[in-house]
Amino acid sequence: MESEKLLIGAHTSTAGGVHNALLRGRDIGATTIQFFTSNQKQWNGRKFSEEDLALWNETLRGSEITDIMSHDSYLINLGSNKTELLAKSRRAFQEEIERCLELGLTYMNFHPGAATGDTDENCLDRIVESLLVLEPLLENRSLRLLIEATAGQGTTMGHRFEHLDYIISRVKGKIPIGVCIDTCHIFAGGYDIRDEAGWENVIEEFDRVIGWEHLYAFHVNDSQHGLGSRKDRHANLGKGEIGIQCFEVMMTHPKLQSIPKYLETPNGELMWKDEIAMLRSFAYVSKEN
Ligand SMILES: [Zn+2]
Ligand SMILES: [Zn+2]
Repeated sequence: MESEKLLIGAHTSTAGGVHNALLRGRDIGATTIQFFTSNQKQWNGRKFSEEDLALWNETLRGSEITDIMSHDSYLINLGSNKTELLAKSRRAFQEEIERCLELGLTYMNFHPGAATGDTDENCLDRIVESLLVLEPLLENRSLRLLIEATAGQGTTMGHRFEHLDYIISRVKGKIPIGVCIDTCHIFAGGYDIRDEAGWENVIEEFDRVIGWEHLYAFHVNDSQHGLGSRKDRHANLGKGEIGIQCFEVMMTHPKLQSIPKYLETPNGELMWKDEIAMLRSFAYVSKEN
């Protein structure tokens, strides 16, 4: 694959209007982007005006950016054992999907949820239920929901491939579903991806437990904390405990190279342009050899 066409981008800001996420993506050399469609720390979701949508569509038409992903609000817990919070979460989640559909996005990335005192299985069952009610909304639409693999901080689900499989095996065929692997998260969750041999093991395990065909995207982050630390602190590529080799493998391995990649590394736009160029250069080198 031509390395210019590889889907690599970052989580860009929508400050000043949602279309600005596309312009900021262009400025850092991104071919894909992720963003928050609404303030990720507030329950009250943004409503797009006709003007917002017109500007978005116009900017998108003139853009090379594809496979655009939203990231849902951090407040949402689709597996909550607290009735009110669960209802609020489901409402906010549906509104998030509606915004994604208005913008014509490809993916909506979400954190599965947290058990907060209940059993893992009850929590996972509530997540499944929360997803299944969305069947009519997502029918015949091109939006796919991606469950993000988590670091497993506190009681959050999704740090074992088995959790992701539990959900996917119960909702696939009913709603468009898949997985987004965050490299920092799975490393903190105990999956060693520091080199090619590590990646081979993890690919094999993902395929065996979930099925490789369910992987649609990567969040590309190094990790401030060590293997199995279950702490979610991103680091710039090559500046954390994972190290640069992991990302070289991602840009050259036939199973990893063409999957869309979104940076969520610290220092944002200052670093992303260079990190995107670096990732592309890894793919170039492999092509020349
Ligand atoms: Zn992530
Ligand atoms: Zn994270």
